[in-house]
Amino acid sequence: MEIGDTVEFSSQWCRNTGQLTGDIPFMQGPIVDLQPMSGEKKVATIDFNWLNAHGPDAHIKPPQRMKALTSNLHLVKKGSGPPPAPPAPPSKVSKLKTLATSEGYEGTLEFLEEFAMDCIVPGICMNEGCDYTGSNEPDCGQGWCEMCHTNTVRSGLLLAGII
Ligand SMILES: [Zn+2]
Repeated sequence: MEIGDTVEFSSQWCRNTGQLTGDIPFMQGPIVDLQPMSGEKKVATIDFNWLNAHGPDAHIKPPQRMKALTSNLHLVKKGSGPPPAPPAPPSKVSKLKTLATSEGYEGTLEFLEEFAMDCIVPGICMNEGCDYTGSNEPDCGQGWCEMCHTNTVRSGLLLAGII
């Protein structure tokens, strides 16, 4: 069992402890924490919800956080594991390439040779999915993007690390 898996108390455990009635056998929820114990045993922290519970107030109870040995739990649904890492923001190199190409240059080198000494150089918006380009001062790190309405346009020279 891993964090994110949905579990319930095993029917075996319910029988052994006499909990055949009441809400306990109907509780399910995701594991939010796992702590190792001795041997193979682990203590799981579960946010049990009561959606499957019976009774008049079963559906209005808030989730209840409980700890239980994993050996007393039964896996209901495999979770997706730990949440995936957010996608990396576009790199300076890829943005610089996009900028050079959109300005009509073969590659970043040609672009840099052309603008290294200029006082106004093209820049590109650093937001993902936006390739707005506009001209800025060479040291501009916060040019205005007309598309995103944010100060996210970086000059090509800044991207290249020349300044
Ligand atoms: Zn933008």
